[in-house]
Amino acid sequence: MLKLLILGAILYFIYISFFKRKIINTTNTTSSKNKKKIDADTVVECHQCKTYVSIDEAIMMDGKYFCSKECVDAYNRS
Ligand SMILES: [Zn+2]
Repeated sequence: MLKLLILGAILYFIYISFFKRKIINTTNTTSSKNKKKIDADTVVECHQCKTYVSIDEAIMMDGKYFCSKECVDAYNRS
């Protein structure tokens, strides 16, 4: 009977550690994946030339997005 309890306890600990690790792994991959996906998929319109650029490459000026430095300059000149 005691052996059974010890075996049960060992199995329980294995199960808990495995389950915990699984949860941490899942949360980490899901959150980082989601963040990456949002960053890569978010496209903004250039205020100057109306070209769509990914938010990673866009330049922000006065709360507006621009595709390149040229468009920022053009916007500043106008
Ligand atoms: Zn532009």
